[in-house]
Amino acid sequence: MGNLADIVLMLNAECNMHCNHCYVPYAGNRSQKEAVTIIKQLRAKGHKVIVAGAEVLLNPLYLKAYQAAEQNYLLTNGLLLNKTPSLFDELKKHGITDIVLSLHFGIEKKLASVPDRIISGVAREASKRGFNVRMTSMLTPDNYDDVLGMCQKAIDYGAKVLKFNNFVNSGRGKRHDDYALASEQIQAIFGRSLSQK
Ligand code: SF4
Repeated sequence: MGNLADIVLMLNAECNMHCNHCYVPYAGNRSQKEAVTIIKQLRAKGHKVIVAGAEVLLNPLYLKAYQAAEQNYLLTNGLLLNKTPSLFDELKKHGITDIVLSLHFGIEKKLASVPDRIISGVAREASKRGFNVRMTSMLTPDNYDDVLGMCQKAIDYGAKVLKFNNFVNSGRGKRHDDYALASEQIQAIFGRSLSQK
């Protein structure tokens, strides 16, 4: 049992954004019932199931899938939490303690992703309501030289974790090889961060 693979179950492809770098490589949406059934079957066989999607809050019934997987964190682009704050209560009711928000510092316009002013507001509100806020940020040739500035902003917005991602060559992102960091840029990030500790 202990050697069984963890399985990532994607719930939907639907999103209320159309980011240039979107990595989602598939189409279609599962029903909440189908998702819960699959999760229960996989867990009964001993797998850990990780649920994810594009924008899962477009269908709040998906929160039942998070409950079935006993997953306490949810990744969202934040737009719906910004528009409908009562969704925070739904998250709590379904066992979500950690909200993961993507904020691509300094390159939101270029990526057509959710702007800083919205994500920062959602992060502060989530933090005020007792959620652990985690952020993820993509580093590209346009923003990689300000990692420490991004860390400071994430702290100011109430985030407890900031994870940096490299560009993923998948989905719509395939058209944007220019978002990938060169190896010397990656080395510069580590060199600069360590020297400023
Ligand atoms: S990157 Fe995320 S927010 Fe942007 S379109 Fe894809 S799923 Fe939606």
